[in-house]
Amino acid sequence: MGANRDRTLRPMRSKAEPALIPDSFQLAGLTWRVVQTDDVPPDQLGHCDRDRGTIRLRKSLPDDVKTQAFYHELVHAIYFTSGRDEHDEREVDAFGNLLHQFFITREA
Ligand SMILES: [Zn+2]
Repeated sequence: MGANRDRTLRPMRSKAEPALIPDSFQLAGLTWRVVQTDDVPPDQLGHCDRDRGTIRLRKSLPDDVKTQAFYHELVHAIYFTSGRDEHDEREVDAFGNLLHQFFITREA
């Protein structure tokens, strides 16, 4: 149980990983924009703005960290879209890491 949990929570790193971040996407018919900027709260890698439908990612992050931050913020966007306003950061991290793992390990 411990091992699984650790794997779930541990971000996956790949040096060769290019940024896998879209410019926009839709959830339930609503378009979200993804902006790479350094206008992000000082202690955060990214930010999910529900009212503006915008995810902001710290521009200066290494690609792999930025991609992980994107999936984290995407989970916040999914929760907001499904009517969940209370977000447990550990759960968001785990869900985001798993989505990221899925994305970088998928094969056709
Ligand atoms: Zn968060």
